[in-house]
Amino acid sequence: CGIVGYIGTRPASDILMEGLQKLEYRGYDSAGLATVLEGELECVRAKGKLQNLADKLAGMENPARLGIGHTRWATHGKPEEYNAHPHTDTHRRIAVVQNGIVENYRELRETLKAKGHEFRSDTDTEVIPHLIAENMKQLSAADSIEDNPFFEAVRISVNQLEGAFALAVINADYPDDLIVVRQQAPLIIGFGQGEFFCASDTPAIVPHTRAVLPLENGELAKLTPLGVEVYTFAGDRLKKRPFSLNWNP
Ligand code: GLU
Repeated sequence: CGIVGYIGTRPASDILMEGLQKLEYRGYDSAGLATVLEGELECVRAKGKLQNLADKLAGMENPARLGIGHTRWATHGKPEEYNAHPHTDTHRRIAVVQNGIVENYRELRETLKAKGHEFRSDTDTEVIPHLIAENMKQLSAADSIEDNPFFEAVRISVNQLEGAFALAVINADYPDDLIVVRQQAPLIIGFGQGEFFCASDTPAIVPHTRAVLPLENGELAKLTPLGVEVYTFAGDRLKKRPFSLNWNP
């Protein structure tokens, strides 16, 4: 299982696919990508080998400069395409990839279904995009981590999740934001020139940059083309800098 993410100036899908290849050693049963292009989410998923996903992507011209990718090791729901990540909310505006397990997904799923959210998979993960969408609906424009309702809704949502999870989250209405979260599962941020990366392990990042910042448990970050902001789950801003990785390939 692996997570990758990219925001910057280059087409994201190639970078995400290369990153997923570097994480293949972790094992997986399916894979997928989501990008934000011209205000819409593009989500492509495939069961089995990464090559199956590559085959689906071949011939799709996608210049999107923001995206997330995932290789899945199923814990909840069969290894089928409809259970592959990324998962999205009812209106397909928010996309999430996760490593780990949401322990309280049954209660959350029932509550969200009762509020009209439509589920399309058997995974624990799918509660996350619906929960973020629900929390965004509840927020007024001003209630925010430095006035970003999407980032604030992710922060509120992760406080409602129990279990172990690393997340990468994008939103079709926020083409400049890649949000990442760490709670008992690894998540590393890579700092490039006008571009930023995230991954569950360094091999997916080192081809691009050696400047890395591993998140600690209970932290979330917003990556934009201009930089990285790290906060605690409680909403306190942290001053953090990347360090230079010694890497002997
Ligand atoms: N629990 C999630 C699922 O079964 C994520 C598994 C993973 O870490 O790949 O879809």
